[in-house]
Amino acid sequence: MQNINYNKILERIHKEIKGDFGKGKLANYIPALAQIDPNQFAMHITTIEGNEFGIGNFTQAFSIQSISKAYTFTLALKQLDDEIWKRVGKEPSGNTFNSLVQLEYENGIPRNPFINAGAIVISDIIYEGLGKTKNKLLKFIKKLSENPTLIYDEEVAESEREYGDRNRAMANFIKSYENLSNEANDVLDIYFHQCSIAMSTQDLSRSFIYLANKGKSLKNKEILTARQAKRINAVMLTSGLYDAVGDFAYRVGLPAKSGVGGGIVAIIPNELVISVWSPELNSAGNSYIGTKALELFTTYASNSIF
Ligand code: GLU
Repeated sequence: MQNINYNKILERIHKEIKGDFGKGKLANYIPALAQIDPNQFAMHITTIEGNEFGIGNFTQAFSIQSISKAYTFTLALKQLDDEIWKRVGKEPSGNTFNSLVQLEYENGIPRNPFINAGAIVISDIIYEGLGKTKNKLLKFIKKLSENPTLIYDEEVAESEREYGDRNRAMANFIKSYENLSNEANDVLDIYFHQCSIAMSTQDLSRSFIYLANKGKSLKNKEILTARQAKRINAVMLTSGLYDAVGDFAYRVGLPAKSGVGGGIVAIIPNELVISVWSPELNSAGNSYIGTKALELFTTYASNSIF
């Protein structure tokens, strides 16, 4: 699989998605996300050998939103390993990402680390383990992406906080089941900030190489064990695309994580990471064009995990 040149495939995809602008909708529940230019597209590949291919605005930073849940899950798994499963599950939720109902039936143990409730518990875990979590989280992602200029977008973080009543309800509800050790507001401050991190598709595909490369980063540093990297891929496959994991597995066939900023990161184990960004979303909250572009990629490259 080494040294394939993906440029032709990316160019072909770029041409084919152009007619699809306007078919999805910008996320509008956080005003900071509703203000961006919807007609944008970027796709970027980093291979485990370090080769890169990109098309569109692949150096343009955007709000990674829930893609950040894969980084915090990584830190929590490093910290607790299998003990993590006492605090959060690993089953798809079958509900929307910000749903509260299941939490009551399941005694404050969120279904998986990628729904909001699960990510809030994960933020609590890394807060216990890391201390100055916001600094350390950003430092971790800067190293992984080899981009020292990454920032929290404070305007987005503030918007998250201002319109975060559901997340606040969730954190307090989880705390009532004693599955949150820290104060809900402190944990939410981490959660709102992680969602606000601004990154490009290039930053994303570089940074997630450890999930394609048995736990090793671009610089060949062990971020996770091969077994832990496999576990994250498994949870991405079953829970990484909100309530549309089945459709995504059917159409694309890769473990992936999406965010309501319109980004999606997908992994081809032992080969590469491919990231895509286009801000308009489908009804499940995944990038409309991003999903289609990844579907075209696995079709034209004749490559998926299946
Ligand atoms: N900041 C968003 C929220 O908590 C995350 C949305 C997402 O990308 O799923 O509602």
